[in-house]
Amino acid sequence: MNVVDVEGRKAIMRDCPLCEEAAAESPHCKYSEKPWTMRSCKGCGFVFLEVAPIYEELEEDYAWEKTSVDREAKRRKKHPLLYKLSKSTRWRLHLFKRKKIDDIAGNYVTQGNVIDIGCGKGGQLEALSDSYTPFGIEISKSEASYGKEFAKKRGGRIEVNPALDGLKNFEENFASAIFMRSFLEHEARPKEVLQEVFRVLKKDGVAIIKVPNYACYNRTILGVKWSGFRFPDHLNYFTPQTLRKMCIDCNLSIIRFGLKDRFPLSDNMWLVVGKGECK
Ligand SMILES: [Zn+2]
Repeated sequence: MNVVDVEGRKAIMRDCPLCEEAAAESPHCKYSEKPWTMRSCKGCGFVFLEVAPIYEELEEDYAWEKTSVDREAKRRKKHPLLYKLSKSTRWRLHLFKRKKIDDIAGNYVTQGNVIDIGCGKGGQLEALSDSYTPFGIEISKSEASYGKEFAKKRGGRIEVNPALDGLKNFEENFASAIFMRSFLEHEARPKEVLQEVFRVLKKDGVAIIKVPNYACYNRTILGVKWSGFRFPDHLNYFTPQTLRKMCIDCNLSIIRFGLKDRFPLSDNMWLVVGKGECK
């Protein structure tokens, strides 16, 4: 791992997380915000932050719960009209948005072990019905402390770890469902995580992924003011094509990724993958 110093903080240099093309070969993306260089991969088109803060830095300084609140507040203050526009043009008919995630999971699995990666305070796990056993992985110690007692009471646990280390503590074919909601865009090694997800999922298990959609209309219209840009905690900027490709490269099969799940009027997209054959 190539560790560099960025304004007194430790960070790693990354090549394209999707196709491994050398970052230096790819052009800078116009949305780069110093010192955080974004690249648009010459080989596969994936857009990513070249320099990623290391996990310890993420835990201490860039924990998403802090930066997202800061950035949201700044945007609201600086561009009240754009902020309103961005909010109001979000797709209201999005099916997943209105449902709790346990309803979504319930369409595919009705019981068993559920792992929420980047579980925060564990609210998502607490919303699950009693037929699931809740497990969480959370890098932020302070966030993780909230859900620990609840998870234990229900036979599960919260791992205070980066996603990759946390997943490695679960055995093969363990989980009926794995949630990655607003997580994969923060992960320095998304492919390794998806490979672990494949290993940990049961044969008929599903992983439910929600990430910002870089190909959405709001990004095109609002440019760098789009709510999906968060430096440096958003490291990966997926489009429907690159998200699909990364999952398939990790042997995961696409179960659900219809137009409604990746509609460009929404800032986010949802994908359900599993271990069976591609559909
Ligand atoms: Zn690439």
